[in-house]
Amino acid sequence: MTSKETVRRFELRHSSSRKFTGVLGAAVLAAACAAKPTPVSPTAAPPAAANAANGAPAAAVSSSAGAGGDRPSTRAPGDSVTTRERSATPIVSGIYAIRHEDAPDTFPQGNTTVIVGERETLVVDSCYLPSSAKKDIAQIQKWTNKPVRYLVNTHWHYDHTMGNGVYKDAFAGLTIVAHRETRKQIEGYNPQWFAKFPERATTFKQRIESGKDPDGRALTAGEVAEFKTALSGVEPVWAEFRDLAARRDMTPTLAFDRELDLDLGGREVRVLHLGRGNTAGDAVIYLPREKILVAGDLLDHPVPYLGGGYPLELIATLEKMAALDFETVVPGHGKVLRGKAYLEQVIEFLRVVTSQVEKEIHRAGSGPRKLGEVKKAVLASVKIAAFRDRFAGDDKDDRDFFDGFSLSGLITAAYAELWPR
Ligand SMILES: [Zn+2]
Repeated sequence: MTSKETVRRFELRHSSSRKFTGVLGAAVLAAACAAKPTPVSPTAAPPAAANAANGAPAAAVSSSAGAGGDRPSTRAPGDSVTTRERSATPIVSGIYAIRHEDAPDTFPQGNTTVIVGERETLVVDSCYLPSSAKKDIAQIQKWTNKPVRYLVNTHWHYDHTMGNGVYKDAFAGLTIVAHRETRKQIEGYNPQWFAKFPERATTFKQRIESGKDPDGRALTAGEVAEFKTALSGVEPVWAEFRDLAARRDMTPTLAFDRELDLDLGGREVRVLHLGRGNTAGDAVIYLPREKILVAGDLLDHPVPYLGGGYPLELIATLEKMAALDFETVVPGHGKVLRGKAYLEQVIEFLRVVTSQVEKEIHRAGSGPRKLGEVKKAVLASVKIAAFRDRFAGDDKDDRDFFDGFSLSGLITAAYAELWPR
């Protein structure tokens, strides 16, 4: 068990929760995965090459049905949930993807996408650390002299929004855009993150000193080491945030419900809400001419971010995403992907796990005391090992992340979604 996964899981369980606060701990804090920088080709690869690059032909995946966890992996080579280096890569002329190294406190940072038009520039997500956002802006100003007019937040999670203030400072005419629900959550949650940040150090210290998790389970030596790493990174991160704590101008001011169409000058950008999934207000950014989709955390690579949200609705949302005509997708974390094979694999995984959760609820019942029994049964019944291999390969960090965060969180969130039925 790596500490990264331990800390992340801990923070997920002990931050905001949606339906089961204090009872089942179905937490929905932003956290996620990230990946080693593996630059993509500057030009979009043709679909055939794209699918090959993702490790499996799309048809082999999309034709699958049922618990096909033993099918070929679509995991792109060279990617991982741990990102140690920053990278900035052109996707096509005037469109760039930036990946960020994990923060010193091990918190992952979301990808940033830059879309340059003839008149102005649009940026998707401002990542977590203000220092990283400053580097992004310095890079953007090397790429273009067109000012950043729009900053779109794909969702409220901290690893995608905490750099908002840096953009506000750098671009006087900036408008921050988000789905109406995301605007509401940023306004509510983000100032609380600043307020609570110093408490994280205290909590990490408690874990290290007690050697136990909140449930009384003894931490492994690796987990304790991970908490120590995170603890050592808290102060430098807090030093970045301290000045932002009093600010109230980092919330989006332009909200939309279904779709917002923007013209940056010769570059059409559609900001779409395809339905709930990772959060209640996810936005994707679609460029029909370039056939590029920016997915936010509705899609993360190489291991999906499924620690909360609305898994059953996510299936329908991802199906709508798959129906869009795109060839390149920028995930919320991880490598830029070609084709739809990986997306299809995530949909398949969601279908298999959520249907199994529903089956076990029918058998065992629901309510606050049945989650453990349902989870145990689901873990024993699904072809989990094969899915683990397809998503995580033989990377230990990725396998831990899959087990401790994605799969466990998916079952809990699906249970939360199904229980009220
Ligand atoms: Zn994220």
